[in-house]
Amino acid sequence: MVGCAAPVASTPTPGAGQVELVWLGQSAFKITSPGGKVIVTDPWLRTDPRTPAPYKQLEHFGRIDVLLVSHGHFDHIADAPALAQMYRVALRAPGDLNNTLMTLGVLPPDLLPRMNKGGTIEPATGVKVTAVHAEHSSIYVWRNPGTAKDEVHPGGEPVGWIIELENGFRIYHAGDTAVFSDMRYIGERYRPDLALVPIGGNFTMDPADAAYAVKELIRPKVVIPMHYGANPIAKGTAKEFVDATSASAVRVIVAEPGVALKF
Ligand SMILES: [Zn+2]
Repeated sequence: MVGCAAPVASTPTPGAGQVELVWLGQSAFKITSPGGKVIVTDPWLRTDPRTPAPYKQLEHFGRIDVLLVSHGHFDHIADAPALAQMYRVALRAPGDLNNTLMTLGVLPPDLLPRMNKGGTIEPATGVKVTAVHAEHSSIYVWRNPGTAKDEVHPGGEPVGWIIELENGFRIYHAGDTAVFSDMRYIGERYRPDLALVPIGGNFTMDPADAAYAVKELIRPKVVIPMHYGANPIAKGTAKEFVDATSASAVRVIVAEPGVALKF
């Protein structure tokens, strides 16, 4: 191995090198599929201190084919309505959250298709997305322009996502979640090549719980930690997660915001 600057998976994965993934901070990722489809998850970009500067300009994406939001909390949905409008791409989120967005007039109905846990859709040709359980909560806080006050609206049930690309490469984006025993089902049913798991603690799994989930339940080939480093009360660190997953067959990649990883 010469000049191996970026961390790469040591285990063979389907379609090696054809999938590009860029962490944009918190739970936001830009995933480019082997067929060139651009998938964006949980876009909190313009005010996330960890988002790389180019991605704070929403025009930087150029195109978005699939836009996924796991639940209604600000650090997951913040820039999603603006991206949906800019790229005329449907916002895929828990159906009841989309109902709230529709009722409030945040987006027009054609950008708010409904789905729910267990549902599988093909939002772009060859890209399949399944909503799975997440053990968390969801509200949508909306600033009422008439009163200039914040209102709390139903945010639906939070979800995680199974994203299957054209070549069969499967990504499990866990959303915000605690450990739950059906992570074993998700691992056995979908056999993810790559898992993206929250490790910050306080609101989600901490590094120890996330390591348990990955080693004992999900068992992906590769895991990337997310949802840490942006909020001082979510104290979990990548080093703690790496240490807790040592002596495991799962390869841990600590992504740097803005640095493209290939699978
Ligand atoms: Zn949340």
